[in-house]
Amino acid sequence: MENEAISRNFIENMIDKDLAEGVYTTVHTRFPPEPNGYLHIGHAKSILLNYGLAKEYKGKFNMRFDDTNPTKEKTEFVESIMEDIRWLGADWEDRLFYASDYFPQMYEAAVALIKKGKAYVCDLTAEQIREFRGTLTEPGKESPYRNRSIEENLTLFEEMKAGKYADGTKVLRAKIDMASPNMNMRDPVIYRVAHVPHHRTGDSWCIYPMYDFAHPLEDAIEGITHSICTLEFEDHRPLYDWVVHEVGMFENPPRQIEFAKLYLTNVVTGKRYIKKLVEDKIVDGWDDPRLVSIAALRRRGFTPESIRMFVDLVGVSKGNSSVDYAMLEYCIREDLKTKAPRYMAVLDPLKVVIDNYPEGQTEYLDAPNNMENEELGVRQIPFGRELYIEREDFMVEPPKKYKRLYPGAEVRLMNAYYVTCTSWDTDADGTITAVHVTYDPQTRGGSAPDGRKVKGTIHWVEVSQAKAVKVRLYENIIDESKGVYNEDGSLNLNPNSLTECLAYVEPALAAAHAYDRFQFVRNGFFCADFRDSQEGEPVFNRIVSLKSSFKL
Ligand code: ATP
Ligand code: MG
Repeated sequence: MENEAISRNFIENMIDKDLAEGVYTTVHTRFPPEPNGYLHIGHAKSILLNYGLAKEYKGKFNMRFDDTNPTKEKTEFVESIMEDIRWLGADWEDRLFYASDYFPQMYEAAVALIKKGKAYVCDLTAEQIREFRGTLTEPGKESPYRNRSIEENLTLFEEMKAGKYADGTKVLRAKIDMASPNMNMRDPVIYRVAHVPHHRTGDSWCIYPMYDFAHPLEDAIEGITHSICTLEFEDHRPLYDWVVHEVGMFENPPRQIEFAKLYLTNVVTGKRYIKKLVEDKIVDGWDDPRLVSIAALRRRGFTPESIRMFVDLVGVSKGNSSVDYAMLEYCIREDLKTKAPRYMAVLDPLKVVIDNYPEGQTEYLDAPNNMENEELGVRQIPFGRELYIEREDFMVEPPKKYKRLYPGAEVRLMNAYYVTCTSWDTDADGTITAVHVTYDPQTRGGSAPDGRKVKGTIHWVEVSQAKAVKVRLYENIIDESKGVYNEDGSLNLNPNSLTECLAYVEPALAAAHAYDRFQFVRNGFFCADFRDSQEGEPVFNRIVSLKSSFKL
């Protein structure tokens, strides 16, 4: 029990206190994305945090589209966001909301503020408003329109709504304090004119609420108790509180709590950078497996479990920091280690001929599907006179400690026999074209009756039944830690971010379907691509290699 109490994060501690003091009697959270792009790994943290808290406290979790800015929002994004959240396992049940449904209530809230003398219509241009705002060291200047009468403000605001004014000519501002040390409190704009159709409300509105006004109202209307957002909104909290209290329509207004954003090093996390890569067609859409959008991670082969494990490991804090991408890789390896069947695949083939194996003979050998998980059973793999092995598994003049095949060396072919290298063939350029070996028929299954040991075990695929498939290997598209841009302003792209090759795999892998995941022995974890795989012709994306630089 004590340990449990210690490991609680600061948000849980705040909620515990609220519940103990009776500030709230229940916990009600939400995830409020703006449908202006695809969700990324950072959003996953926010989703799982909010959903997890609602579950933990047996409260409610709302899915809400924060669609109050029609210029950047699209239905395409609404759909992808829902798909991603469902996939992550956060279930909003029937609690799906759209902030645009509250436009009438938001309008009423603005009118209520005007009636209280707490909001006014201002004719200053955006640039003038900026100039009048002052700086961190100097107070702002009051707008000449600040003292309009309530009646005049009501009329003007209604006319704004009726479409009488052009974009940018009039705004509604909260009347707070032009000398506040918090710039957000210097009469912020709360409504603007924008003659832009909205993806849900069409042409019904030509005025739209600003984020800092809309967001607290959305939370309050839905009865949210704890409105969890990222650290950059900390300075906006006084305004959040001002709105829910001054509007005065809510009995028990929500509380805003901020936590640090999740940043990943060594990959591109910013929505704006991802967008640029997509628009410049440097990547194959928002779900290109080199990206860290949720859609891309899913396509690459990450599991929801691995992302949940990652978010749990990262934890929740108040301090900004970044987490290495290697930690995410660690999580998917952990998740797939015992779940994924292990098959043999050769990415860079070199032919091996077993000179003393009967020509034209094929036999079938037992191979466990996962040495660490017997439940996955055993399969049969074809074996014959000609095999492929990895080119790097043979060397004519090996360095010390080389444990694979070289002239005179005996090694184990995984799940098969011991073989000894006798000679090799080269072409006119000296490139090795084949390796000759002899096998010991007594060693079927991979051990010798006389107890003699071999130092190395190598994987292989039988030539006549091998299936050639397309395989994609990835590196980071841009190393953000080395700078996203070059000096000339171009993107600092890694030319090796995508390598496509043909690999020879066990025949059974021809039947792989989209999202089937495997370990290819020694080569890493792979997932059949859902876009490019055809029936009988899978294309495999490497999720992650087996080697890890990350230690927990
Ligand atoms: P971006 O800055 O990438 O465009 P955003 O904050 O504009 O993201 P929204 O759709 O407004 O995207 O965000 C929805 C929710 O996700 C917000 O509550 C936001 O605080 C949270 N969120 C966004 N990015 C991160 C992140 N990197 N880590 C944790 N939470 C995040
Ligand atoms: Mg945003």
